[in-house]
Amino acid sequence: MSDMSASPAGPPTVMHVDMDAFYASVEIRRRPELRGKPVVVGALGPRGVVLSATHDVRPYGVRAGQPVGRARRLCPQAVFLPPDHDEYATVSANVMEVFRAVTPVVEPLSLDEAFLDLSGSLRRLGGDPAHIGEQIRARVADEQGITCSVGVASTKFVAKLAGATAKPDGLRVVPDDEVLEFLHPLPVDRLWGVGERTEAALTRLGLHTVGDIAHTPAATLCRALGQAAGRHLHALAWGRDERPVVPSEPERSIGTEETFPADVDDPAVVRRTLLRLAGRTGARLRAAGLAGRTVTLKVRFSDFTTLTRSKTLRDATDVGRDIYATACALHAGLGLERARLRLVGVRVEHLVPGDRPRQMVLGERARGWSEVERAADAVRDRFGGRALAPASLLADPGRDGRSRGPGTRR
Ligand SMILES: [Mg+2]
Repeated sequence: MSDMSASPAGPPTVMHVDMDAFYASVEIRRRPELRGKPVVVGALGPRGVVLSATHDVRPYGVRAGQPVGRARRLCPQAVFLPPDHDEYATVSANVMEVFRAVTPVVEPLSLDEAFLDLSGSLRRLGGDPAHIGEQIRARVADEQGITCSVGVASTKFVAKLAGATAKPDGLRVVPDDEVLEFLHPLPVDRLWGVGERTEAALTRLGLHTVGDIAHTPAATLCRALGQAAGRHLHALAWGRDERPVVPSEPERSIGTEETFPADVDDPAVVRRTLLRLAGRTGARLRAAGLAGRTVTLKVRFSDFTTLTRSKTLRDATDVGRDIYATACALHAGLGLERARLRLVGVRVEHLVPGDRPRQMVLGERARGWSEVERAADAVRDRFGGRALAPASLLADPGRDGRSRGPGTRR
């Protein structure tokens, strides 16, 4: 900072981080053969909508929220994939951990997007928000194999807009003395709170850019849009946004559940599903650096009635094997031999910070399941979700709860 008078408050400290084409990027990460190809993620059924698409299909008019059938007509050469929400949640937990290593003040907006308040940690991290942003981008790329874009400003909405202009795989800092220069040429619909109706009202007033709004008297905006909206937009157009970054509560529980494609009454199929769900729950706990003492089993019957049973362990665990054993005991205790189940779920509660992930040293003997599963996490992070699974799952041709494989009894 050579000219401190230009920004007396110091460098901006509100950061917005957003993964680029998040679901599509996660799919490409585990299927390297898709790299460079257009990818669309969305439920493939008749009512499926586009959830995520790589940037190269956007010129064809493919957008999130659009019916998948329409996206197929617009860009038939794209690869269409169904979503894997468990995988995205796992990657999201890892990414949020990267953010929380920078500052505890992290406000997630969705699985792939968060605000960070750097004001308390800026000095410790060297004082340059651009450098911190590049470090976050490098860590996310190295550890998760996906790219993100970062915006930094003194307010939330300018930080978010700055990041959007840097997409994909970019970073932009907007210092205080450049905010108006940055904001005023933007079209009005970029401002938070401007939907189609507000945009139409602004167009009727002849206002097309943020600068047009700034140079319109607040009273005129209030007459057209109402007091609250008028005042709000006028403030935003001058770069004023008082909203602080509000850190979210830490997670209270971690778990996952699965609805069977058709109701299931075979306890072996239920146990195999519990093994898979427990494995994922353990992976998510470890990814979030958490462990928990209470394991809860949830079952939903074919008539939609739902039961939960919990057991509290002596020690907190983040090990899928322990979670599986407890879930199986709870399942056996319910005596459901003939019951037809629609869904089962596994959840771990009463979370505490877990052991920090430990790097396995080559040749070191694995001690217990915790180390084995941590090593598996590392392989999964590099090679994708199905690279390593318990032997009894490898025989399972898919998520079809009715499929049978050898070795399901333990
Ligand atoms: Mg995103």
